[in-house]
Amino acid sequence: MNTDQSAFTILKNAYRSSHESGKKLLALQILAHIALIVLIINGTWLQWIGCLIAYTLYMGIGMSITYHRLLSHRSFECPLWFERFGTLCGVIGALGSPITFVSQHREHHRYLDKPRDAYSLVNNPWWFVQWFTMLKQVSLMRAPELLRDRFCWFTHKHFFKIHMAYALLLLLIDPFAIVYFYLAPVALTWNAANSLNSIAHQLPGVDIGYRHPGQTNSSVCVPFLGIVCFGEGWHSNHHYDVRNPKVGKAWWEVDLGYWIIKLVRTN
Ligand SMILES: [Zn+2]
Ligand SMILES: [Zn+2]
Repeated sequence: MNTDQSAFTILKNAYRSSHESGKKLLALQILAHIALIVLIINGTWLQWIGCLIAYTLYMGIGMSITYHRLLSHRSFECPLWFERFGTLCGVIGALGSPITFVSQHREHHRYLDKPRDAYSLVNNPWWFVQWFTMLKQVSLMRAPELLRDRFCWFTHKHFFKIHMAYALLLLLIDPFAIVYFYLAPVALTWNAANSLNSIAHQLPGVDIGYRHPGQTNSSVCVPFLGIVCFGEGWHSNHHYDVRNPKVGKAWWEVDLGYWIIKLVRTN
C-alpha cells in the first residue's frame, strides 16, 4: 500500500484522472448505497426477499458465473441464451461492462500482486480497491473476442442507457422496486466483489483464511465469502486452478455458483 499519501488523497487523484464512465459508475454506486440504507430502515421482509433474488441474479449469475467463470476464463460451455442473460445480469450488477470487467480481471491474473494489477493492494488502500477499479482506465485489448462480439459491444457502449431502461421498467411495475430490486442489491454486489479483492487477497502480515496447498501469492480462501459470494470466496483455489468452473474443492467448500453451472453447462 502507498503509505506516503492518505487513502483520501489517492482516491481524489484517481477521481481526477478517471474516465467519464468511471465517474458515472461512482455516482450510481453512491445512489445504490443510499438505497441500501433506505431499505434497511424501511424495507419489509418481502422486499428483502426480492432484494436477495436480485442479488442472486447480479452477483451470482452476473458477476460470478457469467462475467468471471464464463467470459473471463471460458471455464465451461453453455447455451447462448444463458450467456446473454447472464451478461445482462452482470451489466445491471454495475461492476462495469463485460468488456471492462474481463479486461481488468485478465490483467489481475496476469499481473497478480504487482502494481499493474487493477485489484492490487500494492498501490490501493485496502477497502477502496473497487473504487479504483471503477475509476481506472483499462486496456480493452485483453478481451479481443468480446470486442468483436456485437452483443457485448452493445452492452459496453450503451451501459448506462441499459441501466436507465431497466430503472424505467421497474418504475412502471413498482416504483419502490428501484430500491429493493435494483439499487440496494447493486450496493450488495459491489460490497461482495469489493470483499473478494480486499479480503480474499491479503497484504503481507495479514492472516485471515487459508491458502490452497502450494499457493504462495496473496490469494486466500475465506469461508464466509465462499458462501455469500456464490463460491468466489474460495479464491486461493481459483488462482490455483483458473480454468476449473468448480471453485470449491473440499466437500464443505460450498460453491453455490457451480451448483447453478451444473444445471446449464453443455460440456
Ligand atoms: Zn479469475
Ligand atoms: Zn484474485
